[in-house]
Amino acid sequence: MSTRRILAMQDVVKRVPVRIEKSDIPVSQYYGSDVFGLDAMREFLSEEAFESIQQSMNQGTIVDRKMADQVAACMKAWAQSKGVTHFTHWFQPLSGATAEKHDGFFEPIAGGRAIERFSGNALVQQEPDASSFPNGGIRNTFEARGYTAWDPTSPAFIWGQTLCIPTIFISYTGESLDFKTPLLKSLHAIDKAATDVCQYFDKNVTKVVATLGWEQEYFLIDSALYNIRFDLQQTGRTLFGHAPAKGQQLEDHYWGSIPERVSAFMRDFEYESHLLGIPVRTRHNEVAPAQFECAPVFEEANLAVDHNQLLMDVMEKVAIRHNFRVLLHEKPYAGVNGSGKHNNWSLATNTGKNLLSPGKTPKTNLQFLTFFVNTVMAVYEHADLLRASIASANNDHRLGANEAPPAIMSVFLGEQLSKVLDDLEKSVHSGKMSPEQKTALKLNIGKIPDILLDNTDRNRTSPFAFTGNKFEFRAVGSSANCGGPMTVLNAIVAEQLIKFKKEVDTLIDKKVEKDEAIFQVLKKYIIASKKIRFEGNGYGDAWKAEAKKRGLNNIPTTPGALEAMISKKSLDMFESLGILTHREQEARYEINLETYTKKIQIESRIIADMVDNQIIPAALTYQRVLIDNVNGLKNILSGADYKKASDTQIALIKEISERVSIIKKAADDMTEERKKANNLDSAKKQAHAYCDKVKPFFDTIRYNVDKLENIVDDATWPLPKYREMLYLR
Ligand code: ADP
Ligand code: MG
Repeated sequence: MSTRRILAMQDVVKRVPVRIEKSDIPVSQYYGSDVFGLDAMREFLSEEAFESIQQSMNQGTIVDRKMADQVAACMKAWAQSKGVTHFTHWFQPLSGATAEKHDGFFEPIAGGRAIERFSGNALVQQEPDASSFPNGGIRNTFEARGYTAWDPTSPAFIWGQTLCIPTIFISYTGESLDFKTPLLKSLHAIDKAATDVCQYFDKNVTKVVATLGWEQEYFLIDSALYNIRFDLQQTGRTLFGHAPAKGQQLEDHYWGSIPERVSAFMRDFEYESHLLGIPVRTRHNEVAPAQFECAPVFEEANLAVDHNQLLMDVMEKVAIRHNFRVLLHEKPYAGVNGSGKHNNWSLATNTGKNLLSPGKTPKTNLQFLTFFVNTVMAVYEHADLLRASIASANNDHRLGANEAPPAIMSVFLGEQLSKVLDDLEKSVHSGKMSPEQKTALKLNIGKIPDILLDNTDRNRTSPFAFTGNKFEFRAVGSSANCGGPMTVLNAIVAEQLIKFKKEVDTLIDKKVEKDEAIFQVLKKYIIASKKIRFEGNGYGDAWKAEAKKRGLNNIPTTPGALEAMISKKSLDMFESLGILTHREQEARYEINLETYTKKIQIESRIIADMVDNQIIPAALTYQRVLIDNVNGLKNILSGADYKKASDTQIALIKEISERVSIIKKAADDMTEERKKANNLDSAKKQAHAYCDKVKPFFDTIRYNVDKLENIVDDATWPLPKYREMLYLR
């Protein structure tokens, strides 16, 4: 074993769980105490400032500068009372990570002294250099500035010794350069569209928010092993590694007993999350060995997205205390399940109603059906855009890999709701309906709650499934910012609801009675959107064939999938809803292509590096041992005896040579393809070249490296093996 690997394994064996002192304090006693939330605001703000900030939180109005000064001063006082020395605007650039630049509160003053200050200006706006973040060509070369601006709808919080202010990030010319800005606009669009539609059913509804409950899957690995796997460190996944004899085939890990070291880590990061007001509540082992999941109670979507971004950061930092590293990559290990981040999504009204939860009366159920059918219709209309919203180099490994939903978008409704829609389709008549027909219809609809609650069937193979009172978008990747897919979902449903309202109003203008008008339009959508509905096994090949027959797209890789971002249909939708201009959306498309290319490029370089510096040298070292052995045998044996004794070794020597030369040639050819790809003149061509010309070498190289891992003496092999990385003690 290489010295590094021996030392790392010695560390792993010695690990003991970190003791968590604070684990017996009830969560309610410290929950949210590092958040500048309502309690802190009430305590530290004047009544006037409190009112003003409440209003901007609820109605999205701008806090005026004078008030901002007050709020800033109070935030600083609160933060200082907790030992905070710095502040930062905390934002979500399109790199996918969160960004922060910490500034001290202190300011030097005359006489060589200093005071602590935090002004309203510093709270409301900062000017980071936009050129260092992905901008897809939006930044003008002469104007590198970007702005971050305070988002009062997501409360400030303390992380470490820094006061973090959630902000949006836009260019000098006002274009969004982050995930939050379009998300907020999409939330505004769906609020407006859904509130308008709610007026058919309940005039008390004045606001609708989208809700999000994410489920975060992740792997843990001992940091000693992580530290000697360059591929994990630099790409987040293992580029080589033979599958262990025991993987997940016994299905003994899912919901199994949580190892003590892991549960100490979970308690610790949950504690930190609770201080930050992140409502994580569920934890369990996932399907693959060393894979886990955590899930919070759902929240308003903007806050939920911030909390997920923050949680990923918290997890990574807390893991290090426990000598673990968190792997958020969608596919850290080949041959076992990858990680996703289910996005549970619904709509909630200011009157406390979940619009995707059936009610007790025909009227509330008609409201439920309205939102339900419109969501299905929206997914039908924009399936490709939804697919694009979850496309990434990482997620390509997962989608369609028989453990995650396929790249084909479809909606699962469950048997009972499928039947409700089928019945509706049959019982609504396009001519005028008789009073008896209407009564029968309403009676049927009135029956929905009995059959729905708690017995919706689950289909784990669907990318977009209805689960009783929410839709679950399952195809989202584990490392993704939920803001991307949630912006798309809000936008397409908003657009759909606007169309719906227009169609219903047109019928009402023609003197069709309101309920009947709603029924007729819903029926039309049920018929139109039929081909997006799929109740069967999404992993099977039969579905691929069936989807093809239905004309549904199956775009397995990112460069192709991203095209839907800039279709006329998508561009017009975003622009008409005021969420993203054509220019902004086109910039995002470019950025996604570039990110894809860079990821594959980095992986390709690491592969070549590891092959040249670790794999081939190890293989040749072992081959040298075999050659010495054969030479030695020749000295003491001859003829048939020699042949018999040396046959196996000679075969191995040959196999090593063969595999080494295949690997070396593939790595060199891959480097050539990379050079060619780098010279192409557009981001699109480059991404396609990396996908179609560079990436295929990964498989050839990996296949042969993994074979070598099997042949080469364990003592010589330089990389921690799957069996060592995947089994946590
Ligand atoms: P599972 O999908 O594993 O069976 P649950 O259905 O209990 O788990 O919930 C999964 C996630 O869905 C949780 O984060 C939960 O908070 C969230 N969720 C539940 N109701 C809603 C809702 N109305 N809107 C958004 N998310 C929700
Ligand atoms: Mg789920």
